[in-house]
Amino acid sequence: MKNMNNGKLNRPDVEIFENVELRAYNSMRLPARASFLALPHSPEGILKAIEFARSIDRPWFMLGGGSNVIFGEQCIDAVFIKPGKEFDYIRGTSDNSLRVGAGTPLPKLVDYCISRNIRGLASLWGIPGTLGGAIAGNAGADGSSICEFLTQVTLLDPDGFVHHISGTQLNWSYRSCELGDSIILEAHIKPGFSHPGEIQQVLKRVKTIRAKHPNLATEPSAGCIFKNPAGNSAGRLIDMAELKGTQVGGVMVSNKHANFIINTGNATPSDAVELIHLIQSRVNCLFGILLEPEVRIFGADFIKQGV
Ligand SMILES: Cc1cc2nc3c(=O)[nH]c(=O)nc-3n(C[C@H](O)[C@H](O)[C@H](O)COP(=O)(O)OP(=O)(O)OC[C@H]3O[C@@H](n4cnc5c(N)ncnc54)[C@H](O)[C@@H]3O)c2cc1C
Repeated sequence: MKNMNNGKLNRPDVEIFENVELRAYNSMRLPARASFLALPHSPEGILKAIEFARSIDRPWFMLGGGSNVIFGEQCIDAVFIKPGKEFDYIRGTSDNSLRVGAGTPLPKLVDYCISRNIRGLASLWGIPGTLGGAIAGNAGADGSSICEFLTQVTLLDPDGFVHHISGTQLNWSYRSCELGDSIILEAHIKPGFSHPGEIQQVLKRVKTIRAKHPNLATEPSAGCIFKNPAGNSAGRLIDMAELKGTQVGGVMVSNKHANFIINTGNATPSDAVELIHLIQSRVNCLFGILLEPEVRIFGADFIKQGV
């Protein structure tokens, strides 16, 4: 990784690296490379990274924990912007809610809330990534989604304006939040407490379900690949298509949960994209349902959809 020796970028609020191997930046451990990776230390740093991307005429994309993304090409000619550790914080507020930075790991926030009996977030136990990624994808489990627990989200638009938006004013839907090209800086978590017994009940249920999923440490994945179609389950459709265990190169449909594809050790970005297309076409052919990716796929065919 090479630190750019460019005067404009040599500022304390953003570091920009060139030709970066992304394996460490995605939970599926795909070995793609990015032309640039920016690590901003402040909102100004984010704006400078965007300015840099514009100056070299490249697209830019926000990256959180990389647990809901597929890098679909060996070399992605773009600037990825990953908020640095300055965006990892949990602070109390005067109205008893929590102010949480977008770069805060979601598991850290969930543990924080569980240990203080704060209502709600126990259902999100076991979801990797950051708060920013969870908001962008309206992450959820056990019938709940993150949107239910937020009173306010602070957004930065690429022109440098900061907007404080009430949680209810954002356009949420299943595994999605319409943000346009805004960047999530932080959010406020609803105040309120639950009985510890209630929280433990939720945890027990969620842990039982997660124990049946592929283990991230030994079977790297990006979580569920497809959204559930209305009234149906993507995993069930893939299972019914008898695709469990199907392999393309180093990527395989999990035998534990058909909506997960896992890296068996030497997966490449093109293996992942090919397997995703194979699943889509087999399910569409058999059931007439085109599965929509839940993961964000970065690559030539997909890059235009991006922020
Ligand atoms: C084993 C496993 C289990 C999982 N289980 C679940 C589950 O039960 N439920 C569920 O919903 N998800 C699940 N996921 C998927 C994933 O963990 C979540 O979607 C998570 O919230 C993504 O967060 P992230 O920080 O990793 O986002 P990333 O993967 O880095 O990014 C996801 C999207 O968010 C955008 N983004 C990230 N940060 C920002 C920001 N600050 N501002 C604007 N946009 C931003 C990115 O551009 C991208 O489009 C699972 C994943 C794995 C690997």
